[in-house]
Amino acid sequence: MPTKPVVPVLAKHPDLESVLVSEASLKRRIKTLGAEISRVYGREEITVVAVINGAIIFTADLLRQISNPVRLDCLRISSYRNSTTPVSKPQVLGGLSLALKGRHVLLIDDILDTGKTLSVVVAMIQKQQPASLRTCVLLEKQGRREVEFVADFVGFQIPDRFVVGYGLDFAERYRNLPCIGTLLPNLQNPPAFG
Ligand code: 5GP
Ligand code: MG
Repeated sequence: MPTKPVVPVLAKHPDLESVLVSEASLKRRIKTLGAEISRVYGREEITVVAVINGAIIFTADLLRQISNPVRLDCLRISSYRNSTTPVSKPQVLGGLSLALKGRHVLLIDDILDTGKTLSVVVAMIQKQQPASLRTCVLLEKQGRREVEFVADFVGFQIPDRFVVGYGLDFAERYRNLPCIGTLLPNLQNPPAFG
């Protein structure tokens, strides 16, 4: 029987310079992360708040590895990096439709970088007096924090590189890559991302 040719991963994703987290590692880690989260929450129902668009793919995969009953809501953050007028703080756009008071809230985001986004969202959620609030990020960039922030659950620590794939975008592209990697230098003109 003819064997399937092995296609190098960078040949499959020609815009990437390197792959930092492979599709197989994502799958494996998300399974253990789901088990860890289920263990921490015991039998409690979890109200998940996902920061979209970035956390959309991670959330979809992670939730299917959590055995607790789950309610899901999403929120959007205004982009503050490529704004023409400087915005000091990221803004939460629109409200949540689920009430969080007295609930066990798990906030999910794609990546913890300076910490500004999650600090703002945590402050907003705390106002609703949840019974508990924990945060889960797929990626954490080392040495980048401008605001002190510690996530309760972290998928992977990554170096200080701009990454795309698995929900993370560059100008809204590359969210559908099944792995996480860095773009070729000629595709990364100024870091105008949001
Ligand atoms: P923070 O507020 O922690 O600086 O930034 C968090 C947000 O910035 C993330 O939710 C994500 O939208 C964006 N971000 C930070 N680093 C990266 C990166 O390497 N790649 C992409 N695509 N977005 C990033
Ligand atoms: Mg984001």
